[in-house]
Amino acid sequence: MSDQPMPVEKFLGDMPAEEFRATGHRLIDWVADYLEHSERYPVLARTTPGAVRRVMPAQAPAESHPMDVILRDFEELVLPGVTHWNHPGFFAYFAITGSGPGILGELLSSALNINSMLWKTCPAASELEEVVLGWLRELLGLPENFFGVVMDTASVASLCAIAAAREALPELKIREEGLPGRAEVPRLRLYASEQAHSSIDKAAITLGLGQAGLRKIPVDAEFRLRPELLAQAIEEDTRSGWKPFCVVATVGTTSTTSVDPVPAIAELCARHNLWLHVDAAYAGAAAILPEQRWALAGCERADSLVVNPHKWLFTPFDFSAFYCRRPEILRNAFSLVPEYLRTAEDSEARNYMDYGIQLGRRFRALKFWFVLRYFGSDGLRARLRQHIAWAQEFAAWVDADPDFERLAPAPFSVVCFRARPAELAEKLQSVAPDEREKLEAYCDELNAALLDAVNATGEIYLSHTKLNGKFTLRLAIGNLHTTRNHVLRAWRLLREHARRLDSDRRSAGWR
Ligand code: PLP
Repeated sequence: MSDQPMPVEKFLGDMPAEEFRATGHRLIDWVADYLEHSERYPVLARTTPGAVRRVMPAQAPAESHPMDVILRDFEELVLPGVTHWNHPGFFAYFAITGSGPGILGELLSSALNINSMLWKTCPAASELEEVVLGWLRELLGLPENFFGVVMDTASVASLCAIAAAREALPELKIREEGLPGRAEVPRLRLYASEQAHSSIDKAAITLGLGQAGLRKIPVDAEFRLRPELLAQAIEEDTRSGWKPFCVVATVGTTSTTSVDPVPAIAELCARHNLWLHVDAAYAGAAAILPEQRWALAGCERADSLVVNPHKWLFTPFDFSAFYCRRPEILRNAFSLVPEYLRTAEDSEARNYMDYGIQLGRRFRALKFWFVLRYFGSDGLRARLRQHIAWAQEFAAWVDADPDFERLAPAPFSVVCFRARPAELAEKLQSVAPDEREKLEAYCDELNAALLDAVNATGEIYLSHTKLNGKFTLRLAIGNLHTTRNHVLRAWRLLREHARRLDSDRRSAGWR
């Protein structure tokens, strides 16, 4: 095929079927090769800000380009700027998988291009959504009265949950009157732990509660919300004129995957009539394993809960499962039906547009249905068990190595640790505070350099957090292409580079 742009008058309408078929077959081959050999690429993009933008023309092309040219440019211009989340060496943030069945389901959903705002605008999408969220609810052991709705992300699901919590105070008429300039409305207070995800802060900002409207509760030594301090905070706030209305508990915090004590928090919420939202975006998936059910203990008392199949249930981004025990309140918060969206089936069918912010909704349920059917719940369980077992093995390697230390418990498939040369272990315990500070600063710098060094290999990609002020490395296992050998390789790279970096620094007199 020629590289020359085609004249506009050559064709109107969509891509001809034959061209679609030929390119489609080629692309499926490309995707299959990519999934099998993504290790050909450096997992973390080797690029600098602006590099992809600079190689793109300033204006959209006026003329049509042949697919050959588009695909060539994809490989040459776009791909170098891609960080490969589907790479087996991806251990950063929460490792995820765009699995084969999920990708194919996504392809069909794009082909159908439906909008499931109303039951009528695609009955199958609405009903499949109900079915797959019902299946997932059962796999997680959640009560039958949890109504499910698919959202794009946990951030939006939590925002909707907190909006519903506010709507659960109808006497404040916030939906009708808003918040600003109303002296008769007390300031609303939301609670979450210091380790809660930033999406909760963003929800507070978006909903007009302000950052001051979110009170962060300190955590214990294992990074779990301390319920006795939550109880104190609620009482203190009530005495000083705040109106406590909602608590967000986290099952699997972003930094360490700690699990807040939901049963105790649920008890407090019941006592003070507060909405309990559970952010189980990552770790909720673990509850499909009987031995991990403990993670969702108490969640049957929650008013709402979110879990992300796009995190650890192998569903291509994005797919967030949001459950609500009081769907009528969620509906009160969001339902608004102009004449042009009324249908004859409104009284007997579920219109999902009524349960969230957006009107238009993609057919996300299709890809999750593919995933659940292709792997089966036994297959999903076996895969999660494998990830957890490898993470536990990695944690044991860290624990057994005198030059490394673990910085948090690892209940699921994420390990938080750092390099800490053996000679520093005792000193860190015994030296005066200002000397300790210097040693800690040394460890922070060493670990930041270690992170850069292992990520620069292109073989693995890890991310970091800060725990008790310490620069902490995180290894998250969750990609279906990852094998035990990849985890072992990550460990070898970490040890090798840690030793080299520490020895370079020692020779340079840094410590
Ligand atoms: N909640 C927790 C605990 C998370 O770890 C994350 C992301 O990592 C989120 C919420 C946000 O997820 P999403 O990207 O689906 O908004």
